[in-house]
Amino acid sequence: MNLEFSPEELAFREEVRAFIEENYPKHVSPDGLRDDLDPEDMVAWHKILGEKGWSVPAWPVEYGGTGWTPTQCYIWSEENARVNAIMPLPFGVSMVGPVIYSFGNDEQKAQHLPGIRSGDVWWCQGYSEPGAGSDLASLKTTAVRDGDHYVINGQKTWTTLAQHADWGFFLCRTDPDAAKPQQGISFILVDMKSPGIEVRPIKLIDGGYEVNETWLTDVRVPVENLVGQENMGWTYAKFLLAHERSGIAGVARSKRGVEQLRDIAKSEQMDGAPLMSDFDFARKVSQLEIDLSALEITELRTLAGEQAGKGPGPESSILKIKGTEIQQRLTELTLEAVGHYGTPFYPSVSDAGSNEYPVGPAYAEHSAASYFNMRKTSIYGGSNEIQRNIITKMILGL
Ligand SMILES: Cc1cc2nc3c(=O)[nH]c(=O)nc-3n(C[C@H](O)[C@H](O)[C@H](O)COP(=O)(O)OP(=O)(O)OC[C@H]3O[C@@H](n4cnc5c(N)ncnc54)[C@H](O)[C@@H]3O)c2cc1C
Repeated sequence: MNLEFSPEELAFREEVRAFIEENYPKHVSPDGLRDDLDPEDMVAWHKILGEKGWSVPAWPVEYGGTGWTPTQCYIWSEENARVNAIMPLPFGVSMVGPVIYSFGNDEQKAQHLPGIRSGDVWWCQGYSEPGAGSDLASLKTTAVRDGDHYVINGQKTWTTLAQHADWGFFLCRTDPDAAKPQQGISFILVDMKSPGIEVRPIKLIDGGYEVNETWLTDVRVPVENLVGQENMGWTYAKFLLAHERSGIAGVARSKRGVEQLRDIAKSEQMDGAPLMSDFDFARKVSQLEIDLSALEITELRTLAGEQAGKGPGPESSILKIKGTEIQQRLTELTLEAVGHYGTPFYPSVSDAGSNEYPVGPAYAEHSAASYFNMRKTSIYGGSNEIQRNIITKMILGL
């Protein structure tokens, strides 16, 4: 495997860097919490990329993909991380989009893929329920056939950004008598404006509003919204989860985070000297960088395998665990570096038009909120404990 970028890949990097510098809407590049952004700002870059034809690079070309190699896709994510770009939300682009073009019928492709590409239609994911997270197959939401409709009843939870969603993809039980719990589940597309849907906010420890409870009461959905075959939803659900996990390592973004951490530790003082000259702190930053380099090599090795025709396998679990551990350590060290400036917490400072000013330097403003927010990464997309179980079974063969 050759880990050097080829001259063509370096030229590609120049091309995308120039495009980003010229076109990225600079006012939507916060260093803080992106989930608190105005919804229009969250999709601004997506819409620009949609017009350029770059919003769904990893999709097959026939559905609007760019035909870039996995290495080019990696370069693309690195260049976006350089400017802290708000990337297209994953729910359409990396989750339901691939399910629709792989398992959906022609009408579903024609109806839904254009809106995902352009960024005009916002999707949410209705998998988890109060009693069904890691053990997803125990989900209880039902879809009962009534003429040419399904009638859906149940409660989903942790539905990210459902408050802005136009459509949702839901896992529902269509055969309660199936021999195995995985066998009676269907994958159904639901218009979020349908009568009977109620989205209730869950307030998070960082003060942000990014997840919801979604209640469905006698929601009537046309049978045409079933993806693939009835009772085969588990297959599509697992396919989607592999896509969800592959981008979760966040190497490019963490690399930028480490650079920022170094800058902060050079500005912050400890005993009259820059924090970065403290041996113990410098050692922790160096260890983080070493782990991040190892993760980057692992990710490039996985990409090289994909380029050689090997599909993403259980390696995505390794990338998920290490990537999220690094993201969490990064926010821990940043909070440590800003010291007491991390303590004041004014969620309203980030509101447009607020006349409150942060107490300390700008880089400290979101450090506590980011620290708390990033606890989620080892839980969502399948918890890290579950990823370890997958590695134990699929890689170690235990
Ligand atoms: C911020 C955030 C956003 C999310 N967004 C969405 C979304 O948009 N849509 C959606 O459908 N879901 C979403 N989720 C839900 C997420 O997928 C679940 O939280 C996750 O799968 C874990 O399920 P759970 O919360 O029910 O925890 P549980 O499954 O109850 O697990 C509790 C603890 O037990 C451990 N555990 C459970 N089973 C095992 C086992 N067999 N072996 C070892 N340890 C085990 C877990 O690792 C965890 O530490 C989101 C979650 C978060 C935190």
